[in-house]
Amino acid sequence: MESSGVDADVVIAGAGPTGLMLACELRLAGADVLVVERLAGRTGESRAGGMHSRTLEVLDQRGILGRFLAIGDPQPVGHFSGLYLEFDESESRYPYPLMILQSDIERLLEEWAVELGVRIRWSSEVTGMRQDGSGVTVELGTAPGKTRTLRARYLVGCDGGRSAVRKLSDIDFPGTPATMTALIGDVELPDLPEDYVWVRRSPTGDYSAIAFEPGWYRVITSEYDRVADRDEPVTFEQLRESLVRVAGTDFGMHSPRWVSRFSDAARQAAQYRKGRVLLAGDAAHIHFPAGGQGLNMGMQDAVNLGWKLAAVVAGSAPEALLDTYHSERHPVGERVLHNTRAQSALARPGAQTDALRDVFGSLMEFDDVNRQLRGMLTALTVRYQVGGDHPLAGRRVPDAELKTSDGATRVYELLHAARPVLLDLRGSADLAAAAAGWADRVDLVEAAGEDDYWIVPDLDEIPAPAALLIRPDGHVAWAADAGDPLDVSAVRAALTTWFGPARQD
Ligand SMILES: Cc1cc2nc3c(=O)[nH]c(=O)nc-3n(C[C@H](O)[C@H](O)[C@H](O)COP(=O)(O)OP(=O)(O)OC[C@H]3O[C@@H](n4cnc5c(N)ncnc54)[C@H](O)[C@@H]3O)c2cc1C
Repeated sequence: MESSGVDADVVIAGAGPTGLMLACELRLAGADVLVVERLAGRTGESRAGGMHSRTLEVLDQRGILGRFLAIGDPQPVGHFSGLYLEFDESESRYPYPLMILQSDIERLLEEWAVELGVRIRWSSEVTGMRQDGSGVTVELGTAPGKTRTLRARYLVGCDGGRSAVRKLSDIDFPGTPATMTALIGDVELPDLPEDYVWVRRSPTGDYSAIAFEPGWYRVITSEYDRVADRDEPVTFEQLRESLVRVAGTDFGMHSPRWVSRFSDAARQAAQYRKGRVLLAGDAAHIHFPAGGQGLNMGMQDAVNLGWKLAAVVAGSAPEALLDTYHSERHPVGERVLHNTRAQSALARPGAQTDALRDVFGSLMEFDDVNRQLRGMLTALTVRYQVGGDHPLAGRRVPDAELKTSDGATRVYELLHAARPVLLDLRGSADLAAAAAGWADRVDLVEAAGEDDYWIVPDLDEIPAPAALLIRPDGHVAWAADAGDPLDVSAVRAALTTWFGPARQD
């Protein structure tokens, strides 16, 4: 027990990618975190197969991207419903999807979490909860017939699509039901032809096989004439039969390491926050895994929420800051559900869809179309409503080159500690004076910019700014251009909105 009478500032339900990322963000900002996980340990199930540019940037902002790049495999192209998408090297330092299994992502995040002092309690399933004015009481099932109770100031449900925290909080989960069934398995596939590439369509559905190790494949079949019962067990035999139906053969499939099922059901929590309970990741949104966006969105939910919740727990920001988690991330989730519905429409079998794919594919050859779709999938074009009319306001800050007296050479190096940064590229003392009341919470960094223009994915080039207030999640809260007189009230308003009132000495 902590001296404050709670077991942790924040209890996180679920040690998947979202829960682990959130735990790390909270720890970096000084909060005491306890992760409770229903499973007894890692399953090694592969699940998601990749990370997109913005997630790679977010890990770079924390200085841990090298661990993921060391085992991941950059892909030359991405795809929208199986139609190839080109990337543009000018938009990000990481202009590619990185193929890396979810099991490896979770292992690396867990290692980082443990290094940061996150406590993880396995075999602990959230089975009940009750919130009041000062905190949340969480009931855990720890073994058959055994329960224990924890007390926290906040509870975050990162407990996946069937989230107990969401259900226990009576948060609605509206959306569209499943219209198809997909089966997935990690198997050996000795008879797959050497010229096989990616997705093959058939009159009843489609199938794909992606090699993760020599001889070992991730097989997915999608069938549109059946909707499985959610609670029906999944078997290797079902996967084999499904592959025979859509491909005409099972390619000698054997030795399954893992089989599972998913669908195109798309639902989103009506509220991401209810008092002291918050939802993130699949607990807040589920959708067809087209384009590989779910894990990425969950990790980015975590990066949006972590610093806000830590500031509220520390008492440096008002509780209302937590409402911006819903207002910023719910629209992002809505857009992802929308594009995955479009992708599943483009994936259905039939002559009409074949024609639609041809037309859509030819449109994707236009740079602007390709760029629009790329922005959605990579999440590089996410923009929050932070006020102000500077083109960078609300966007993710580009990783521009610069020089500081401490030897930093680019913007993301300034964000490793997950603290807000007031970046002064104009070299004037007035900015420091304006922000003096926040010096305990906001790092003022003076730097010389190396570039005259910065590239913003959905805007092309903009003149390099003279000063920026960067939130710990890497989004710009306020910016000013060279030649503009410093608007002291605007910078102070942004500091107050995001990091609480000025300290009065
Ligand atoms: C075939 C497939 C391919 C995919 N490919 C991609 C991809 O390439 N890229 C991508 O971004 N996404 C992809 N996804 C989606 C991705 O797998 C999910 O979005 C991601 O796992 C969500 O992470 P999460 O941490 O929010 O939830 P989860 O990974 O579901 O983790 C939730 C955790 O909570 C635990 N838990 C559940 N209930 C409780 C409870 N009551 N108490 C305590 N713990 C509990 C669970 O055991 C689990 O460990 C894919 C999904 C599928 C099915």
